[in-house]
Amino acid sequence: MSTFLGMPARAPRGVGHLRGDEPFPAAARVALANPQLRSNLRHATTTIRGKSGRVIAELPDWQELRSAGSALKTYTMANLPRLLEQLEEKVTAAGGVVHWAADAEEANRIVTDLIRETGERRVIKIKSMATQEIGLNEALGEAGIDPVETDLAELIVQLGHDKPSHILVPAIHRNRSEIREIFLREMPGVDPALTDNPADLAAAARRYLRETFLSTKVAVSGANFGIAETGTLAVVESEGNGRMCLTLPETLITVMGIEKVVPAWQDLEVFLQLLPRASTGERMNPYTSMWTGVTPGDGPQNFHLVLLDNGRTAVLADEVGRSALHCIRCSACLNVCPVYERTGGHAYGSVYPGPIGAVLSPQLTGIEDNASLPYASSLCGACFDACPVKIDIPSILVHLRNQAPHPRTEKAAMAAAAYTMDRPRLYRRAQRAAKLAKLLGRRGRGLPPPLNGWAASRDLPSPPDESFRDWWRGR
Ligand code: SF4
Repeated sequence: MSTFLGMPARAPRGVGHLRGDEPFPAAARVALANPQLRSNLRHATTTIRGKSGRVIAELPDWQELRSAGSALKTYTMANLPRLLEQLEEKVTAAGGVVHWAADAEEANRIVTDLIRETGERRVIKIKSMATQEIGLNEALGEAGIDPVETDLAELIVQLGHDKPSHILVPAIHRNRSEIREIFLREMPGVDPALTDNPADLAAAARRYLRETFLSTKVAVSGANFGIAETGTLAVVESEGNGRMCLTLPETLITVMGIEKVVPAWQDLEVFLQLLPRASTGERMNPYTSMWTGVTPGDGPQNFHLVLLDNGRTAVLADEVGRSALHCIRCSACLNVCPVYERTGGHAYGSVYPGPIGAVLSPQLTGIEDNASLPYASSLCGACFDACPVKIDIPSILVHLRNQAPHPRTEKAAMAAAAYTMDRPRLYRRAQRAAKLAKLLGRRGRGLPPPLNGWAASRDLPSPPDESFRDWWRGR
């Protein structure tokens, strides 16, 4: 039986975390007023950037690896339906059960029902962008199921009733004294004499998590890769918590975005070189766990794979925007972005912050729900240079800016400019008028409404004393 991926639909409203409460400029203003946040961000992004740059410089074939990663992703997107069906077939043959979720609501319903069937009221979770995207923790909470995040940074965010602000380092906006306060306030059984020494904080989390690992029978994970050829799923992580979740429980439920499929086992040799160097600045990922269906007597005996669309086929339908689906979530583009470094992740309103969030979120939700995000960039191109799979984020940003709804006044101003530039005599007169305005001192922020909005954060270039045409005529 062939699988029908359905008509491209956007991620539904009212569920999940792809839309913010306010547009980016308003949210960014709040973040910019917080000096502690900016200092935490600057320190963290500078450190990761330096570390990553050093290990990337060790590889003479880094650019070739990037090209290989990009080509593999392009091939995957061009063959997505076939590869997903192959993955389903292989997972099923290995004893797993595959579920197809058109959107966040369906995925949440599937996972909740599967957990209910086990009779358990608590699950352990591995850090997963897909489950954050669909708001799974909230859905489980409403169903009376307690999800416990086991990645240290995710745990800090969860206990702090906070939102992640970085793909890889979700608590990047917290410093150690803030983390100590959160642990003292929220962590069951914590020692009241806890200090803010990083080793003590990690030990407190480890004690709490170990008890939870050993007493919880269901785990929920995401997946970094799903190999169509063999039906193998892969999770890469740094703390070993993921491996506990993938091996100790009786039931494992994995939620994977459909773009995470890769054709063959051998393709991992490219991605497992690119990902750790670009993300954490490590030569090799500390914990890479792979599993294929179920193995009698070893690890979870029930395995469910939920394949999530939630707007992805709509992204795939856009010839320019679709390369946003190539993302391997390394977060390198966040760490080099001058806008992200100043605002942090919360300003983007979505679980996907930074440059990749600015191109992915508006496409998943439809541009009208995230219209300000494609403008959350200076178009400096640092993200493109840093991306290990060569996603041309600046070009997608410009493409999305063209699709974003523009105010009527802006459209009228652009139409007037186009009309004027098309007519040499009119253009000459406009140049003379601009010069006159300069003589009258109307420059910089002195544009009249509605154009003053444009000049609120930019200096209007002063017209030259002599235009090119005048200069040319003089010769
Ligand atoms: S867009 Fe590229 S650099 Fe940014 S998170 Fe994705 S893979 Fe990494």
